[in-house]
Amino acid sequence: MIKKIEHIGIASKNIDESLTVFDKLLGRSTYKTEKVASEGVKTHFYKVGESKIELLEATSEKSPISNFISKKGEGMHHLALYVDNIYTELERLNSLGFEAIGEVKKGADNKLICFLHPKTTSGVLIELCQEQFE
Ligand code: ZN
Repeated sequence: MIKKIEHIGIASKNIDESLTVFDKLLGRSTYKTEKVASEGVKTHFYKVGESKIELLEATSEKSPISNFISKKGEGMHHLALYVDNIYTELERLNSLGFEAIGEVKKGADNKLICFLHPKTTSGVLIELCQEQFE
């Protein structure tokens, strides 16, 4: 079941500038920075109530974030929905015609994640995420 908006991901072209902007905008600093090597990104998280804002910085030219920025420019990249069971939820969504991009994998912030293709979600890249219990 989908529980809440976990975070909103924002692609940043210049992370130092974006951090300065969001520190000012939100009146706080990030509480966590984490590299996700498999995705070629470094993530910077702000807590905003029950949700988070994730600034995404590309760490390589081949990063999906580099691709996104070269096509669409910086800005909103994805909407992450928190689910209690990512496998059950993916099965439900697949049966309704939504298309997953790849398999469930380990993402930032100790989460299992999977993306849904924007062509099946009104143009919005959706990330499903679930807490990963060791
Ligand atoms: Zn995310």
